[in-house]
Formats: sequence, C-alpha cells, structure tokens
Amino acid sequence: MTRRPSFPARIESLAPALGATKNKANNVHLTGAKAEKTLKTTPSEAARPTSALTPLRGPGDFQRARARLVDQIAQQGTHAPQVLQALRAVERHRFVDSALVNQAYEDTSLPIGLGQTISKPSVVARMIDLLLGVAPEDGAMNRPPLGRVLEIGTGCGYQAAVLSHVAREVYSIERLRGLHEKARVNLRAFRLANVHLLLGDGMAGFPKGAPYAAIIAAAGGDAVPAAWIEQLAVGGRIVAPTLAHDGKQALVVIDKTPHGLQQRVLEAVHFVPLKSGVA
Ligand code: SAH
Repeated sequence: MTRRPSFPARIESLAPALGATKNKANNVHLTGAKAEKTLKTTPSEAARPTSALTPLRGPGDFQRARARLVDQIAQQGTHAPQVLQALRAVERHRFVDSALVNQAYEDTSLPIGLGQTISKPSVVARMIDLLLGVAPEDGAMNRPPLGRVLEIGTGCGYQAAVLSHVAREVYSIERLRGLHEKARVNLRAFRLANVHLLLGDGMAGFPKGAPYAAIIAAAGGDAVPAAWIEQLAVGGRIVAPTLAHDGKQALVVIDKTPHGLQQRVLEAVHFVPLKSGVA
C-alpha cells in the first residue's frame, strides 16, 4: 500500500493529448478539460418528499419509502434496470444512525460521523450507471455485470452494498478506522460474500486486487491519482469526483482504451474531500 506507483509510460505519452499534466504527486490533472454539461444535482428543499414528516416504523414502511425513492430516481433519468434493482434491494436505513432513519429514503446525503456523509442515492445510481457504460441515448437496458470494482471511500458501506449487486467482486477502501469498522458492522447482516473491506489510503489504490474493471471514488480530489489509472484494466473505467479546471468539483470519467486514455468531465457534484493517509 505504501509503494508509490510509477507513472505508466504509455499514459504519460498520451497525457498532452488529453490536456493532462503530471505533477510531483504523479497525478493526472484536468487542466485542459472542458465541462460537457453542468447539471445541478442538489434537489431543492421544496422537493423533499413527505417521508421526513411521516415516521417510518416497520419493514413495510421502509420498503414503501425505498420503492418511492427508486421510482423518483427512475423518473429523473436513464438507469440500467440492474442499478434500480440494486437500490431497491439495499436497505439504506440500516446505514444511518437511528436518529436519521426517517430521512434514509430521501434523495439526500446524510451525516455518518467523523465529518463524512452517506452519498446521495441518485448520485450513487448515476455513477454506477456510468461504470456500466449506460448512456441516456441507449435507453434503459441491462448491462453485463462488472468484474472487479474498487471503491475509494467505504464510509458506512452503503454504496459498496449497492455495487455488490452489479459487480462480481467489490474491493472498498476507507482511510478512517472508525468508518471502516462501522461499515464492517453495517454490512455483516447483509452477508455479502463479494464485498472486501480494506483499511488504507485509497489514493494508492489497492494493487493486490488489480486490474479493476472499474474504479469509483466517493471522495473528491484535486486530480485522479496515477495509481488508479495504473490499476485499471484496459477497457476499464474510472468515475471520480475531481476538481476541474474551473476550480469546481465535477464527475470525471476516464476510460483506459487499447489506444490510451479518454477523459470526460460531466456534471458538477459535491463530495467530501479525498485525503491522504490513514487516521
Ligand atoms: N461510499 C459511501 C460514501 C462515503 S463518504 C457511501 O456509501 O455513502 C467518502 C468517504 O471517503 C469518507 O468516509 C472518507 O473518509 C473517505 N476517504 C477520503 N479520502 C480517502 C482515501 N484517500 N482513501 C480511502 N477513503 C477515503
């Protein structure tokens, strides 16, 4: 985990074409990247569903609230049916503190302790759709399941659980011991044999699990670490919130093709910062 990966020569030679530069930290920066589109992903407070006012008591209430949330997400855009199915299957209320369960099925991020948040469900759906290669023009269609996926930023483990439904293996790494332990407890009940939780600095990736079909970051950095690109399989894709040239955080998609890297900058997002080291 401590080894600093060397910058792959092939990627380096492609970097100028991508508008990417190399810095001391061996990262790919998005200096020349142009935002394809900027969508506001934060729902207005007025759009809050009534679930916040109606206490959710039993399993039936939670299931109905979850179904309502997934229907709402389905109406907002194109999603692979397997992603919506995964959102329907994973009980998000089990990943938040008891004081917040009534908000578990609102499309919003929520605090999970240590200054971190559980990701917003519609953004989880959007990012996993991107990993699967869903494009709005394709319409909603199922995709072949992903192979090995690396998630940076386990947090409470919610997205790892969702990923476990659409990928063969999920490696999820968290730098905060408190949250790594929390995710372990949260996920125990689900008995997801294909989820592997790791404590470590995800900026170095997890070389032992490489190569990955997909890498998804739940925290936003200044740049996409070279280690992630190195550990991505040819044909694989990275989806990561990253600081774009305008200083704002946006979803960045990097494809590792047989001919080199392709990078796109998509809509603005608001993720917690990607930090180095284990704490
Ligand atoms: N995936 C979570 C979201 C967690 S928030 C969900 O399902 O909702 C993002 C997490 O990334 C935080 O827990 C934060 O501690 C973690 N993080 C930030 N930088 C990291 C790094 N370098 N390596 C691993 N985890 C990191």
